[in-house]
This record gives sequence, C-alpha cells and structure tokens, in this order.
Amino acid sequence: MTESPKRWTCVEAGCSYELTAADVPSAIQAAQRHIAEVHGSFELEEMIEDVLEDMPESGADQSPRTARSPRTLQ
Ligand SMILES: [Zn+2]
Repeated sequence: MTESPKRWTCVEAGCSYELTAADVPSAIQAAQRHIAEVHGSFELEEMIEDVLEDMPESGADQSPRTARSPRTLQ
C-alpha cells in the first residue's frame, strides 16, 4: 500500500471542513476527531476512507524545478 497524502472533506451538511494528512490512518484519525469535536458524532472508518481523495503530488502548482548548473567563470 502506497502512502500518498490524502485529503478529506467533511460530509456533514453545511460543513465544508477539509483536512489533509500524510496517509490514510492519519486522515481517518483526524477526520474522526473533527466529527467528534465539531459535530459530536462518529463516522465509520470505511465512510471516511470512502471519501478520501489523493492529493496531487506536492509542489504540483509550483514552477518546475530549474536545474542549477555550476557556473564556470573564466
Ligand atoms: Zn464537519
């Protein structure tokens, strides 16, 4: 199983809370905490996992890396 960053969006009505986590277990944990603290409710792991989205690779919207070439000063 690959550990790619995940994004979770709260599915409670009127709540657009979003969180990101480094992997699935962390995302589930953080999501359950949000639901418990904010909604006083409980969400099953499967339900959370179901709506997890893969995060785009980090730095996706950054400018492409420019290779630094060593300067030769003569
Ligand atoms: Zn929420």
